[in-house]
Amino acid sequence: MTKPFSRLVLDWFDKHGRKTLPWQQDISAYRVWVSEIMLQQTQVTTVIPYFERFMARFPTVVDLADAPQDDVLHLWTGLGYYARARNLHKAAQQIASEYGGEFPQTFEEVMALPGIGRSTAGAILSIACGQNHPILDGNVKRVLARYYAVEGWPGQKAVENQLWEYATANTPNERCNHYTQVMMDLGAMVCTRSKPRCDECPLQSGCLAYAQGRQAEFPGKKPKKTLPVRTTTMLAVFYNGTVLMEQRPPTGLWGGLFGFLETELPVDDAIKALPFEISGHKALEGFRHTFSHFHLDIQPYLLFVDAPGGLQVNESNQRWFNIDESLGVGTAAPTQKIISQIKQIL
Ligand code: SF4
Repeated sequence: MTKPFSRLVLDWFDKHGRKTLPWQQDISAYRVWVSEIMLQQTQVTTVIPYFERFMARFPTVVDLADAPQDDVLHLWTGLGYYARARNLHKAAQQIASEYGGEFPQTFEEVMALPGIGRSTAGAILSIACGQNHPILDGNVKRVLARYYAVEGWPGQKAVENQLWEYATANTPNERCNHYTQVMMDLGAMVCTRSKPRCDECPLQSGCLAYAQGRQAEFPGKKPKKTLPVRTTTMLAVFYNGTVLMEQRPPTGLWGGLFGFLETELPVDDAIKALPFEISGHKALEGFRHTFSHFHLDIQPYLLFVDAPGGLQVNESNQRWFNIDESLGVGTAAPTQKIISQIKQIL
């Protein structure tokens, strides 16, 4: 008799599953939660050093709750999708105030925390608390869509619902923690986006995509749409090894991160509007930064301040930063790109 789906993958887990990742040691809901949030949209190898630095600085959920948001964003710099860090911080504060710093243990309570959806809640509670919950992250969607040859893009509700049904039906009552882990492992290590290693896959004998030679067709692709293009001018005001940056509002694009001043004015007019004497300016190399919903074409300028007396900033959200030192705050990728350009010139 053929072994059930869950038995096949659990046997594979015993032989090949990952068991030495940092968040698989000293397992706690807090550590699993942080790792799950970092792993959204980001590869394991990239996440490991970020996770270790994060845990060294914030060993408990209360340490995270008590930290200034700038420290949290600083440790997130480079991982992108900063709403994840802001939500993590907000949720930690909620856990500290509403649950006395103990991570909640019911599915409803965990789901109610900012930034935690159904799959992440399931992963935390199954891996850290041994509870029985299905998960459906990007890796699991790919495995199930191929195994059952589910047509359509998983971003469509009907397709997603169908995948949840398969995920639920296959989740075993026992060893749910290992099952959750192995489904993520299979998606990351075997049933990879391109060139899946079907010959090493424990699910090969029942996999419809494999049987039909249609692995590349699942999961269905998102319908293509052309992204709109926006433009912006960024002004890197420079004085004696320091650059002026301002903190963005707490929500929205790059919320809470520090970046260069932005203007919609022509650069000469923008310079006149600054409260500094600018002795000269230079156009840096323009580049495109792509968000999920639009492209942003950025033209940066380096502006040299003349008078040291003019360094006083009026806005409370503005600060001077030494570009040769760790900034100690969160910055977006384009800001780092501009800083590298400045360092190459100077
Ligand atoms: S057989 Fe291939 S396509 Fe099917 S689940 Fe395994 S790796 Fe993915």
